[in-house]
Amino acid sequence: MSNYSFWFVVGSQFLYGPDVLDTVAARASEMAEELSKVLPYPLIYKVTAKTNAEIADVVREANYDKTCAGIITWCHTFSPSKMWINGLANLQKPYCHFATQYNREIPNEEIDMDFMNLNQAAHGDREHGFIAARLRMPRKVIAGYWQDAEVQQRIASWMKAAIGVAVSKEMKVMRFGDNMREVAVTEGDKVEVQIKLGWQVNTWAVGDLVKEMNAVTEQDIDKLVTVYEDHYDIATDNIEAIRYQAREEIAMRRMMDREGCKAFTNTFQDLYGMKQLPGLASQHLMAEGYGYGGEGDWKVSAMTAILKAMGENGNGASAFMEDYTYHLVKGSEYSLGAHMLEVCPSVAADRPRIETHHLGIGMNEEDPARLVFEGKAGKGIVCSLIDMGGRLRLIVQDIEAVKPIMPMPNLPVARVMWRAMPDLLTGVECWITAGGAHHTVLSYDVTAEQMHDWATMMDIEFVHISKDTTPEKLEEELFLKDLAWKLK
Ligand code: MN
Repeated sequence: MSNYSFWFVVGSQFLYGPDVLDTVAARASEMAEELSKVLPYPLIYKVTAKTNAEIADVVREANYDKTCAGIITWCHTFSPSKMWINGLANLQKPYCHFATQYNREIPNEEIDMDFMNLNQAAHGDREHGFIAARLRMPRKVIAGYWQDAEVQQRIASWMKAAIGVAVSKEMKVMRFGDNMREVAVTEGDKVEVQIKLGWQVNTWAVGDLVKEMNAVTEQDIDKLVTVYEDHYDIATDNIEAIRYQAREEIAMRRMMDREGCKAFTNTFQDLYGMKQLPGLASQHLMAEGYGYGGEGDWKVSAMTAILKAMGENGNGASAFMEDYTYHLVKGSEYSLGAHMLEVCPSVAADRPRIETHHLGIGMNEEDPARLVFEGKAGKGIVCSLIDMGGRLRLIVQDIEAVKPIMPMPNLPVARVMWRAMPDLLTGVECWITAGGAHHTVLSYDVTAEQMHDWATMMDIEFVHISKDTTPEKLEEELFLKDLAWKLK
């Protein structure tokens, strides 16, 4: 992540003379430098653009520079927007229009016509906004004073969504085996997803993984077990099961790193030659930033990796999740989320324990080791990407996670408990109406606004279920969006 930067492109024109242009350039450079101190990625001042050619050049450069994750534009002065058309029409990177102003206050005694000509963002940013609207460009508009913390926070948040775009475009998913038989929602058009989101989703034989596992040495395993001991409490006498998971993790990681994959799937229905479904192995890989999807769910796997990359420090608190069962006591309604084994410890409230238990489902010859913990309390979201046939729909629901209201001592897996918005049952009705899957990415540090920004940049449908959603409004929204996306 540390390689990415954003480019600051400032609009102007020759009308004002060289002194004004020098001032604009000096201030833009100062602003980029100051903002870079507080933003998660550097903002690099590139140009004060005054001609069609300058804008076309900087866009061409941005498109081809792998480290450029997006451009942020601003018009210190007026900048006639016909000269932006050729450049913007070719822009392939995320685009944010920052409507700000160098000065916070109107200087009562000093203000004259020279001041007005130099400081006319109120005027220039409107001309700039028109042309992007006219071009129907996906973009983020952020208005506010550049030194205000809330405004800087919004730019930071958009930057992370743009990083999600960069990560998406390079995403490679390694599938071990196919999807679980007969399941619908985990299916999808892999060609369409590659065209739209950039994902390369391909399959590898479980037999290749077993071969790789056999090549892992006891010394390699010793080293990884030490890492497990540093991060987790060992709450089992079955050390061999832990060592077996380490063998699986090392083998999967080697195969993924060799192919440049950042996400993977497997299925309990196809473990030929393996003695345990990877539990601890998948969980620790997720903690390291890899995406995972159970039952061959490659869409949720890639999304998990992308949300992780959008989160804090490029590896945030986002986890592959599954809605398992409900608590329907009136006034205390909750979803209980978990998975067979594979819940990411980035969402744990406390230090996870490694346990081994029997797993009846699937082809396990031995009891798989897994991490068991409670999820932390806090606001968050769950997201599901579904294939509607001809287009993708991203559904995001706001949630409030709580400390699980009971200890559930016989539940042998990690668990997260939450209330969906607007309330559990209305939230469930809305989710089901929209077609959301049982698998989701649950995140504590990526927001619905960021996912909206991401969906806009990826040009896919976005549905947000929030505290203000009603089933009636949602049905109408889905009906209208269905029509609009068929025309698009
Ligand atoms: Mn599942």
